[in-house]
Amino acid sequence: MKPLTIEEIRSATGGELVGEDTGVMVHEVSTDSRHLTQGALFIALRGDNFDGHAFLQAAVDAGAACLLVDHLPEGWDSAALPCIVVGDTLNGLQRLAYWYRRQLDIRVVGITGSNGKTSVKDFTASVLSQQFRVNATKGNLNNHIGLPLSVLSADEADQVCVWEMGMNHSGEIAPLCEICAPEFGIITNIGTAHIEFLGSRQGIAEEKSALARALPDQGTLIVTASCDYVDYLIERTHSKVIVAGNCRGAVRAEKLRLTDSGSAFDLSIDGEDSVPVEIGVCGKHMVNNALLAAAAGHALGMSAETIARGLNACVLTSGRLRRYESAGVSVIDDTYNANPDSVIAAIETLSELPVDEKSRRIVVLGMMAELGVHADREHRRVGELAAEKGLQVVSVGKAAMQINLGAKEVSQTSQHFDERDDAAQWLKEYTQSGDCVLFKGSRMAGMEQVMHQAFPQE
Ligand code: ATP
Ligand code: MG
Repeated sequence: MKPLTIEEIRSATGGELVGEDTGVMVHEVSTDSRHLTQGALFIALRGDNFDGHAFLQAAVDAGAACLLVDHLPEGWDSAALPCIVVGDTLNGLQRLAYWYRRQLDIRVVGITGSNGKTSVKDFTASVLSQQFRVNATKGNLNNHIGLPLSVLSADEADQVCVWEMGMNHSGEIAPLCEICAPEFGIITNIGTAHIEFLGSRQGIAEEKSALARALPDQGTLIVTASCDYVDYLIERTHSKVIVAGNCRGAVRAEKLRLTDSGSAFDLSIDGEDSVPVEIGVCGKHMVNNALLAAAAGHALGMSAETIARGLNACVLTSGRLRRYESAGVSVIDDTYNANPDSVIAAIETLSELPVDEKSRRIVVLGMMAELGVHADREHRRVGELAAEKGLQVVSVGKAAMQINLGAKEVSQTSQHFDERDDAAQWLKEYTQSGDCVLFKGSRMAGMEQVMHQAFPQE
């Protein structure tokens, strides 16, 4: 972060200074006293289960240079370090990020969509790093707290910032756009994630389109050709548009094929000569994510060759279709999270992978969260589809039972286990060298535990 004075922070947050401004500079903004470094501004946020104000002393002990609070505890020694008191600390964080963004000479790529944001962020950062100094979202810092922290992590030397924008309720994307002022916007797709809170796919599309609406006239909106809301999104922007897709769009993949180690295709931009690309992750949907990143590189003036180098070099954040071998079994770790769209994408990927004739394809699925009234139907639907595609289906956890019922409609080979340990034990005994096993489930399903127990990484 570019160092800030106490007065800059006070004026950006609209707060009141308590204690003395000793001329100290702030080098970092942190909301977690366990991870802050010397010279940080500690912001005491309040959540459902925590109150940052309980950790003020811990923050001081860890080296905080300044505190942003909504009150100071009784008896607090205000001579100890400068404190800024605001009405609402979350709002203080957001105001600070808004102001800080405008101090930087950066170009911002904002990424939203139902699925693939982090994967697209990884591909985009890898592509743009070939030519620019890039700041990208770390971990999943993509919401009303994480995005401001991402903005505040950028520094003066950064040229392009690639920031993920997440939401699970309506009205959340527009304020994120206001804070980070994106010039380029990528909307990965409109799916069903968080439908419990947004009501319908139309509701989800409306929410995501806030990014399209926020782009300036000279900016660029990047969208997926195969998304059925592509026209809807294009209609909602004043900016230029790039459509990306498999054999469709200005940025396209041709001759796409899944390989032993990932996915290969020829990248073609605006009908120019194509360039071969091989990404280290399997799946057509992952190729689509790579194309969106390629389009961002193109919008920033990069050549197809340089873009291809960045795609080839990309290593995705773990838990997204990463493949490893364990005692001859090919394991695909897609355990980061799940919703109906991403489970279907995983099922299709597994069913299309080139494997030996004798190898079995097994999909181990945990529950999908946040589906509300659609839960039973969606779980049954993915079970049925997996079995139709010829996969052996293993469901794990009581909440995943409907997957088994769906699969049983098609095939009797499917298994269900209420307990993770039992599933792991069965997989250990049942699988043999050459089999291909994919694990997936919502975060709370903890499918990585079954995976690691059954197939330790060598
Ligand atoms: P979150 O909303 O949790 O931040 P995200 O949008 O950042 O998720 P990723 O972390 O990239 O998405 O991927 C999450 C899961 O979705 C992974 O299992 C991944 O394989 C799958 N996925 C990625 N891209 C797509 C896509 N285009 N279509 C469907 N599924 C996808
Ligand atoms: Mg993400």
